[in-house]
Amino acid sequence: MELQTVTGLIPIEDIKLADAHAHVWINPPKGVSPKYALELNHAQQIDAELKDFRSAGGTSLIDCQPGGCGRDARMLVKFSEAHGLHITATTGFHLERYYPSGSWLWSASELTALDYFMGELTSGLRENGDVLATTIKIGFEEKIEGQTRILMEAAAEAARRTGAALLFHTEQGVNAEELPLFFEDRGVPANRLYLCHLDKRPDFGLHRELAEAGVLLGYDTFVRSNYKPRQNVWPLLRQMVQRGFEDHIAIGLDLARSSLWQHYGGQPGLVYLPDTILSKLHSEGLSETIVSKLTAQNIAQFLVRCTPA
Ligand SMILES: [Zn+2]
Repeated sequence: MELQTVTGLIPIEDIKLADAHAHVWINPPKGVSPKYALELNHAQQIDAELKDFRSAGGTSLIDCQPGGCGRDARMLVKFSEAHGLHITATTGFHLERYYPSGSWLWSASELTALDYFMGELTSGLRENGDVLATTIKIGFEEKIEGQTRILMEAAAEAARRTGAALLFHTEQGVNAEELPLFFEDRGVPANRLYLCHLDKRPDFGLHRELAEAGVLLGYDTFVRSNYKPRQNVWPLLRQMVQRGFEDHIAIGLDLARSSLWQHYGGQPGLVYLPDTILSKLHSEGLSETIVSKLTAQNIAQFLVRCTPA
């Protein structure tokens, strides 16, 4: 089985340690409110950070910034080639606040959005036609309504036609339970959905229900002290694994803010995954097989395009 990266198809076995919710590069377009204009656009600092990540054993990064709000696949290719890292790119859409006001996507028809997503999945990304999108991102702002609903319809159809996986930003998991039904009704099974930031809502019953439905759950608050990872995500992860749901979790860092990057002068940096998280998983007594699922194989298998319905 192979999955698409910014430099071509690779076998899933090549993914050995992945940040399953990464931000490698964000260059926010002009017109985004300064409050939401996250910047990760200093190539030198990013190069240094990626070098450390690779040296510490990291192999792969699932970039989660869609086009129009800061993605630049030309940079993703550069970083991938410079460091021998597997990087995947996403089409789709983020929350409206990350776009300049009046951005075309936020008044596009379903058909126009569908053409855009399909083009990026099958022909090439807008800013770099040599690169194909791996996933379709959905910025889910708590409710399935308005333009979000129109774009979700288009994303569902693009996923159905191409077999590409859907990656969701959720607002702290709010109303995440509504998503599997919406997509199943449109021919996209729950096992094609990857719901990120779900550990911001560390409700075991909810996580069990979603995992039983087949969803991949993104846990990515490990470095976010305001979400109290020691009291929340770690016990949740332990409980989920004890109950046999280790096939339904992917671990990410979500370092969208430069203050979390060491080479920007922040902490804890990308090496937190290969250094701290990995050793903590081992010290929890998890088997090598389970650790590999949580940090590499679940996300790798999920990203493989399935045969279109
Ligand atoms: Zn993110």
